[in-house]
Amino acid sequence: MALNLVVMGPPGAGKGTQADRVTVNRRLPKVSTGEILRAAIKAGTPLGLAAKAMMDAGSLVDDAIVVGIVRERLAEPDAVRGVLLDGFPRTVAQAQALDAVLAERDNGPLVVINIEVPDDEIVHRLLHRRVCQDCGSNAEPNDEGDVCHKCGGSLVQRADDVEDVVRARLRVYAEQTRPLIDFYRSRPTFRSVNGAQRPDRVLAALEAAITSALEGTS
Ligand code: ADP
Ligand code: ZN
Repeated sequence: MALNLVVMGPPGAGKGTQADRVTVNRRLPKVSTGEILRAAIKAGTPLGLAAKAMMDAGSLVDDAIVVGIVRERLAEPDAVRGVLLDGFPRTVAQAQALDAVLAERDNGPLVVINIEVPDDEIVHRLLHRRVCQDCGSNAEPNDEGDVCHKCGGSLVQRADDVEDVVRARLRVYAEQTRPLIDFYRSRPTFRSVNGAQRPDRVLAALEAAITSALEGTS
């Protein structure tokens, strides 16, 4: 049976890094709306042009745009086995749209994992985060130097990781995305994990949470 997985949490919770590892472990395609939007900006497509101003300001891109991206991506053949969604849904409207798309496909449960990290820790992490200019990987927190461990590209600060924009993103998270926890909380396949620990511990907690959420859904 397919597994559809949502990994949510505040910006800087480590969603992207953990999502990369879980997709390898579980052989699920990763669908990151942030990565898709950044790629569209880099390529200068109409989608990129529409999204750029919102992303530069730390605001959310329109629900209709991101829901369209996810709907199309889930229609691709490799998504039959399920997907890991990173950075989507981010609003209750997106979560409702996701429920509708998954109901049409009816291919397996939706497991939602929330990574929890305290606010002060988040600000610190985002202001120190570096990403690879070429492949988009996050730098490991304990990496030395400014070279990507995956492809050798240079590490840079992401355009939306500067202080004003970080504050705006945290505000957007609190207002528009945190309410999603209440939207999902009562479901038997919802779990929270502690994101304020070493990355390998977060991964272990995440894997255990997925396994526990899946018990009783088959
Ligand atoms: P982070 O989780 O570190 O904030 P992402 O890469 O997930 O970063 O997203 C970066 C930006 O892309 C967001 O601030 C927002 O502008 C846009 N974006 C990504 N996913 C969505 C989404 N599901 N809905 C609306 N905007 C999105
Ligand atoms: Zn790289």
